[in-house]
Amino acid sequence: MAGDVTIVLALEGQLRLDDQPALHEAVALARRHRGGRLIVLDCRPEAQRLRGPHQRRLEAQALACLHRRLEAVAIPLLHFPQHTTASALAELRPLLRPQAVLHGSESRLFDTWPVAAERFPQVFSQFRRGLERSPEPPLPPPDLAGLGGAWHALPRIWLAPPAAPSSAAAAAADPRSAFPFSGDEPTALARLRHYLFDSDGLRTYKATRNGLVGTEFSAKFSPFLGVGSLSVRRIWQEVLRYQDLHGADEGSEWMKQELLWREFFLWSEQRHGDAFHAPGGIQNRQPAWDADRERFARWTRCASGHPLIDAQLNELLATGYLSNRGRQWVASHFINELKLPWTWGARFFEWCLIDAHPALNTGNWAYLAGVGSDPRSFGGSPRRFDLERQVRLYDPQQSHRRLWAAPVPLPS
Ligand SMILES: Cc1cc2nc3c(=O)[nH]c(=O)nc-3n(C[C@H](O)[C@H](O)[C@H](O)COP(=O)(O)OP(=O)(O)OC[C@H]3O[C@@H](n4cnc5c(N)ncnc54)[C@H](O)[C@@H]3O)c2cc1C
Repeated sequence: MAGDVTIVLALEGQLRLDDQPALHEAVALARRHRGGRLIVLDCRPEAQRLRGPHQRRLEAQALACLHRRLEAVAIPLLHFPQHTTASALAELRPLLRPQAVLHGSESRLFDTWPVAAERFPQVFSQFRRGLERSPEPPLPPPDLAGLGGAWHALPRIWLAPPAAPSSAAAAAADPRSAFPFSGDEPTALARLRHYLFDSDGLRTYKATRNGLVGTEFSAKFSPFLGVGSLSVRRIWQEVLRYQDLHGADEGSEWMKQELLWREFFLWSEQRHGDAFHAPGGIQNRQPAWDADRERFARWTRCASGHPLIDAQLNELLATGYLSNRGRQWVASHFINELKLPWTWGARFFEWCLIDAHPALNTGNWAYLAGVGSDPRSFGGSPRRFDLERQVRLYDPQQSHRRLWAAPVPLPS
C-alpha cells in the first residue's frame, strides 16, 4: 500500500451514500491523485451515548447493506464499533497513513444557523417565522468507480460488520410492529417513495398522523434518520417535488412543519448546551417530582397503573417504535400522574426507542414536563393529557390497547 494516496471517510454514524457532503469531498480529493483510494470507517461518533437493542438492530442492518455496496466497488468499510474515530485511526496508523480524513455529519436541513444563534428563539413558532433562508438541497450519491483497491493487508476482523443483538430478532419478526422495516438505505428510500408517491400517505398525513396502530398512519422516517440511512434534505426535496406535482396540500405542508420541529430541537440543543438536558431545562425551573425508584421500576416493567399506558409500554419494549401520540400519553402520565422525574423517563426512552436521538427525545420530554419550549408552560404548568378524552378522540375502539395488552419480556 505504500505510495498510494488514501483518503479516509469516517462515517460518524451517517450510514448512507446519498447526500453525504463529506463523501463527495473525499471522492474529489481521491480523484485528484492517480490511483487515489478511499477507505470508509465505521466508528462510534465522539458524543454518541450507548444505543439500545432496537436501534442497534437497525444500525447493523444499515451497516451490512452499506458494507456490501462499498465492497461491490472494492472500497473497504472497516468496523471499529468500540472505537472513536481518533482511536480507530491510531489502530490503523501502522498500516496506512491517510492523506486526509473527512468526517460525516448529522443530516440537517441547514448547514449553519437558520436563525442567528444570538437571536435563537425558545419556542417553535418564532423559529419557523424567523427562518432566514430555505433548506439546502441534497447531494446525489457520488460515482465511486475506480476508488477501490486491493486491501489484503487489512486485518479481517475490521472487515466484519457487527451483528445485530440477538434479543432484537424477535422484535423484527413481531407482526404487530408499526415499524417492520429493515434499517438500510435502499429500504429507507423505498419507504420515502412509497409514502410520498405510491400510497396516499402524504396527502392524508395531517388527518392520520395521530394514529396509534400500523405502518401507514405516519411516515416512519425517524428510525432511518436516527441511524443516518436517510437524509432529511432528501425528504424535504421529495416533498417539494410532490408539491410540484400535486400542489401544496395540507398533508405535505404539515410534513414540512414536522421536519422543522426536528430542526428546531437539533439547533436548540446546540444553542443551550447542557441546560437543554438539565432537569430545569432551558427555562431553568425547579421541577416538582417524586424520585420514587420502586414506582419507576414498576413502570419500566410495563406496570404503570393504567392499561392504556401499559399497552404503549408493551409496544415500546417489544418493537422500539411508538407513535407520537403514544409517546405524548406516556410522558404526560409519567410526569403528571406518577410525578416521576422526567429525566428518568427520557433516559429510559433513549435506551428503548428505535429512533432514539438525545436532542429530539429530551426536547419533547422537556416540552411536556413544562421546562422546555412549550409556550403555554412559561410561567405556567406542564401540559396534561386527559387519557379518557384522548382515547375517545384517537382510539375509540381501543384497538391499540387490545393489540398490545400482553406484557413482553424486557430486551437486553
Ligand atoms: C416523549 C417523546 C419523545 C420523542 N423522542 C424522539 C426521539 O428520540 N427521536 C425522534 O426521532 N423523535 C422523537 N419524538 C418525536 C416523534 O414522536 C417521532 O419523531 C415520530 O413519532 C416518528 O415517527 P414518524 O417518522 O412516523 O413521524 P411523522 O409523524 O411521519 O413525522 C415525520 C418526521 O418529522 C419529525 N418529527 C415529527 N414529530 C416530531 C417531534 N415531535 N419532534 C421532533 N421531530 C419530529 C421526525 O423526523 C419524523 O420522522 C419524540 C416525541 C415525544 C412526545
